[in-house]
Amino acid sequence: MAKDRTRSLLELLIQVNREVAAALDLRTVLQRLLFAALQNVGGERGSIVVLDDNGKPMDATIVYGTSLHEHTTQQLRETVDRGLAGWVVRHRKAALIPDTSQDERWLRRPDDTLNKNGQKSAICVPLLARERLVGVLTLVHPLPNAFGPEHLELMQAIADQASIAVLNARLYTESLRQARVMTALADGAAAFSASLEVREVWQRVLNQTMQAMQVETVAIGLIEGPEQGLVFRAAAGQNAGNILDRRIPGGQGLAGLVAREGHGMIILNVKEDKRYTEADRFSGIEANAIALAPIQSQGKTIGVLEAINPVSGIFDPDALTVMTGIGGLAGTTIRNAQLFEQLQNAHQRYRELFEESIDPIFITDLEGRVIEANREAIRLSGFQTDDLHKMSIDQLHEVNWNKTGMEFENLINETGRNYESILHKADSGGVPVEVYARRVEFEDTDSIQWTLRDISERKELDSLREDLTAMIYHDLRSPLGNIVSSLDVLGGMIGEDESTRSILSIAVNSTDRIQRLVNSLLDINRLESGQTIATQKTVNPQELIEAAVRDVMPSATGRHQKVEIQIAGTLPNIWVDADMLRRVLINLLENAIKFSKVGATITIGAQKDENSARFWVQDNGPGIPSSEHKHIFEKFARVKGKDKPGGLGIGLAFCRIAVQAHGGMIWVESKEGKGSNFIFTLPVMSE
Ligand code: ADP
Repeated sequence: MAKDRTRSLLELLIQVNREVAAALDLRTVLQRLLFAALQNVGGERGSIVVLDDNGKPMDATIVYGTSLHEHTTQQLRETVDRGLAGWVVRHRKAALIPDTSQDERWLRRPDDTLNKNGQKSAICVPLLARERLVGVLTLVHPLPNAFGPEHLELMQAIADQASIAVLNARLYTESLRQARVMTALADGAAAFSASLEVREVWQRVLNQTMQAMQVETVAIGLIEGPEQGLVFRAAAGQNAGNILDRRIPGGQGLAGLVAREGHGMIILNVKEDKRYTEADRFSGIEANAIALAPIQSQGKTIGVLEAINPVSGIFDPDALTVMTGIGGLAGTTIRNAQLFEQLQNAHQRYRELFEESIDPIFITDLEGRVIEANREAIRLSGFQTDDLHKMSIDQLHEVNWNKTGMEFENLINETGRNYESILHKADSGGVPVEVYARRVEFEDTDSIQWTLRDISERKELDSLREDLTAMIYHDLRSPLGNIVSSLDVLGGMIGEDESTRSILSIAVNSTDRIQRLVNSLLDINRLESGQTIATQKTVNPQELIEAAVRDVMPSATGRHQKVEIQIAGTLPNIWVDADMLRRVLINLLENAIKFSKVGATITIGAQKDENSARFWVQDNGPGIPSSEHKHIFEKFARVKGKDKPGGLGIGLAFCRIAVQAHGGMIWVESKEGKGSNFIFTLPVMSE
């Protein structure tokens, strides 16, 4: 008998082995195992539940008689959580139940209720492959006590065989699934990177997701705006049009959650998930199941990929892996495309600015060969584009090699340089230009940009002023000298008559002023051309001040103004051109008189500083805005504004040049509306 049993057991094992050896597909393996078990052990129905590494049911086959029985994941879960199979899983031990009505471990199914006290017998064994629990095999017989220990023994023998087959099939299924995921991702990667155009990339991501996930609708939401909201920029599939441009304020809904937390999720039943809010709803789309994955680039979430309603009704177990993978791939590609678009816009913008610039611009390579010239450069130079492309920048203008470096190394290694030069025109004429040259990246190439400014008008104006100055002091100086000496002679000839004398003194004063102006212009010219002061002597500052005040007294009295002299302590002598310095003081006093109201008081003073004598002329006039403080000491500079007394803008320029030529400094302290204080220093004579 024992021999027989051993034999039939062996036969059974060989048969089971033969049945399953040929198959690798998990479902087929399960079915064959189950039929073999039912056939050899007996029973009316049976099931094999396959468990994953976490002990959760991942697949099952249920057989009733000779037919397969449909089941739901929920049913499987219940069986494993509560039923006999659950007990076997937890205890990793086989169970033989001769009478199900007498055993607590038996979970009554709805179909049991027909025959509530229907007694059955059942056997359930764990499928253990190399210590790993891979599933449970259950057989049920409609009659109690139909199964005994010998059946259990048979079942255990089958289970040993079955567990290895199930494990192999499970591994095979997993590797198939992984291959599918890998294929989906590889396809995605290939498809995405085929384009750098943002919209094209979106479309490819949508298509790929649609294909890999087999869903009705796919959408891409990108994080935009200051409060990090999501904007759905692209969508495909059913009612995709309703999704476009939908905004989800920062962090709201499931999409917001995924964007915030940076990991994907699958919602199998949207209606039962409280995290799915109104914010997630798209009009016209009734979502049942959705898969969401962050779109990430360099570890940062830049958007969310959403797949809605799988066509088959349920997502594959690997849906999340696929979605997350696509999200990761899409992130890099979308970011690259965005950067590419920004770069193109920047290029475009530069092109426009380049073309439309009112200044001529040439772009050359680092050797100075012309690559591009804008419209204005072509117009001003008079060369055709083709000619320019054959020229180098030094053929176009006189390069200041000191500034640029003989091989443009100063431009290449340092910041830009500017200098004045002449642009050679096609018709052999020249245009005075100010050149600003610097290194730029032009359409991805290291280049030098030469911006030229046409300064012919400024040059013309300068030479006009120079002509005028030359005319004033050459053509006015000698006749003026004649007038002065004639007036002097006249003064000795006229008697004591008051009115004649006062007319004469007006003529003398006016002539003095003209002479001072002419002399100052002459000084400016001389000192600017680098000559030094020739006629220096020891001068007492107080006497200088008194002489200047005497000279402006007629103008001050004419405006009922007072001029106060403030001298602090004794002043050291200074070594100066007395006439020039007197004119400096007169200039400052005359300005103070001119800009102050009738009846005002003007103060002129001096004091000794550490190594210098300090002079000042202060008024309570309109003051000078601080933006003008430096500017007014330039030639021909005048503060703009109406109601200002007219002038040439030469006086202060002369004061600056004269003071600086003596080794001193001049500046103004003033606020608009608060009067002005012009101050200058002169070095004192060492004793
Ligand atoms: P001008 O007086 O001939 O215009 P200046 O060189 O003497 O030329 O002065 C330049 C400008 O500085 C004047 O036009 C005026 O706007 C401003 N300025 C000079 N002195 C005063 C002052 N005391 N108060 C207000 N503004 C002054």
